[in-house]
Amino acid sequence: MRRAHGGVSSGPDLPPIREIIARHGLSASKALGQNFLLDEQLLGRIARVPGELAGETAYEVGPGPGGLTRALLRAGANVVAVERDRRCQPALAELGEAFPGKLRVIEGDALELDEADAAPGAHVVANLPYNVGTALLVRWLGGEAWPPWWRSLTLMFQLEVAQRIVAQPDTSAYGRLAVLAQWRSKAVLAMKVHRSAFVPPPKVMSAVVHLTPDSQPEGVKAAVLERLTAAAFGQRRKMLRRSLAATPGALEALEALGIDPERRAETLSVAEFVAMARLLS
Ligand code: SAM
Repeated sequence: MRRAHGGVSSGPDLPPIREIIARHGLSASKALGQNFLLDEQLLGRIARVPGELAGETAYEVGPGPGGLTRALLRAGANVVAVERDRRCQPALAELGEAFPGKLRVIEGDALELDEADAAPGAHVVANLPYNVGTALLVRWLGGEAWPPWWRSLTLMFQLEVAQRIVAQPDTSAYGRLAVLAQWRSKAVLAMKVHRSAFVPPPKVMSAVVHLTPDSQPEGVKAAVLERLTAAAFGQRRKMLRRSLAATPGALEALEALGIDPERRAETLSVAEFVAMARLLS
């Protein structure tokens, strides 16, 4: 039977996620950073963040009992999902049967997967443990290869981390993560998610960040920009002439660009960091 689900979207009639969790004995594991989302309205809203998904590939990391997975399938995506908790496989297999040929589940650790091979051109969507999410974000945004294998990233983070990703200069949240996320991508905070939306609720508030790739600034090596921001923000309270003293060519680059060496790292725009990295590349 196909019917509308509270105006969220259409698809096969599925039991509530709470029931799936109970039936498959999926009590949340703290060690695996499991905090499940059960509200289908909210899951539908998250699945709409990447835009139209009909016929697109979605790569989901950590589907757990499959709440977000079903929202992506209902949005018409072909889903490739990687989950390391073996207990979730029967629930995900059941979901796959409800959407024949639309869901491929890989059992394993996302940190060890070659996702460019498993889901090329995918919209990445994930509600992950925060440490895993940050490690993957840094991997997906870094490196010299650009454009990346992904079309967009829609990732849940602890609110404070989300704010660091989209931060603007002259704020305490602005740092290496903001420059990494913004120098050749667009990053927006798509929605805040209250801690009470999760089962069990985490201690902190969360937010969904959406990133899309932009063009690579010409003549800039990612590794050089990373070294530069590591040095500059490693001593963020110090003036650039101090924090960059040990970075070869950095003080000359400041002078060539007319950047006052008495400024501190958090006052430099992403474009100024990029201009410096270009001179050093
Ligand atoms: N997506 C589900 C939801 O929104 O309700 C589950 C979210 S829960 C925060 C994170 C999920 O990621 C868990 O199912 C956990 O087992 C899985 N996970 C944790 N680390 C992982 C890793 N390295 N690779 C793949 N999955 C992982």
